[in-house]
Amino acid sequence: MNNTIINNIIDGKKFSQMLRKNLKNEVDNLKNKENIVPKLAVIVVGDDPASRTYVNNKKKACTEIGIISKEYSLSQETKQNELIKLLDELNKDKEINGILVQLPLPHHINEKEIIEHINPLKDVDAFHELNVGKIMTNNFSFLPCTPAGIMELLKQSDISVAGKHCVIVGRSNIVGKPMAMLLLHKDATVTICHSKTIDLSKFTKTADILIVAVGKAKFIKKEMVKPGAVVIDVGINRTDAGGLCGDVDFENVKEIASYITPVPGGVGPMTIALLMKNTITATLIQNNIK
Ligand code: NDP
Repeated sequence: MNNTIINNIIDGKKFSQMLRKNLKNEVDNLKNKENIVPKLAVIVVGDDPASRTYVNNKKKACTEIGIISKEYSLSQETKQNELIKLLDELNKDKEINGILVQLPLPHHINEKEIIEHINPLKDVDAFHELNVGKIMTNNFSFLPCTPAGIMELLKQSDISVAGKHCVIVGRSNIVGKPMAMLLLHKDATVTICHSKTIDLSKFTKTADILIVAVGKAKFIKKEMVKPGAVVIDVGINRTDAGGLCGDVDFENVKEIASYITPVPGGVGPMTIALLMKNTITATLIQNNIK
């Protein structure tokens, strides 16, 4: 039996460890054969505690795999043109293979303009419009880390999506929309729901695979889920007790789901592993290595 699925709970942490081990081998090979070490620039503006945690986790993963990460910690008051100047330098710097700007940015900075300033070949989050467009045509170099991580989780769990009805709750540019495309490319029938969807339960109850990225703690209740459905919880919400919980009422929904991902330890670790994968891909592309 697959030891990364205990009962019906998909252990994203274990899957990500397996993936990270393979990625470490890739980095070791790159170093030994080509004398190249991937390098990721991580830009963080301000001192949002959640962003700090995410950045620390990403840096930790880099160290474990052998990717060099260089952090650029900028003050909350950083101006748009200062950030753009830094991006211009990093775009030109041949030593830097990947650039990650930790979101959200402070309100006075135009996020869209910043993302469009990242060299698409170094855009390891795959947020640049060029990379987003490539996802539509299934001709991509990078995939956004969270949807790609979910596809990997489904694949590794032997959950086929072809012909299944996949319902996604949430239509953000970084999760919901690209998720829909990836599922469509794998022959799923896809429904996307959002805050203006009327009678949400009517849709969620028909899902063979339900993917939830809303940002509201325990938003999806047992009554909204079809028995036997696969439930993927993307949400990360802080609890009053200082812990984390997802968008799905995990304790109750797990009773009827065929498979379910926990929070923490589900989608989150896969997102980070896919970021590492994208950084290696960027390094290979920039060095013309197939
Ligand atoms: P956004 O806030 O960008 O999008 C939330 C989506 O949920 C929107 O499309 C919104 O609809 C929809 N929504 C809000 N309320 C409802 C409702 N009542 N019914 C149906 N849909 C609703 O969030 P993100 O996609 O960036 O993130 C979602 C969650 O996932 C967050 O908790 C975030 O922290 C987490 N996350 C986790 C990651 C991981 O690695 N595990 C990575 C990225 C995000 P509308 O468009 O109409 O406003």
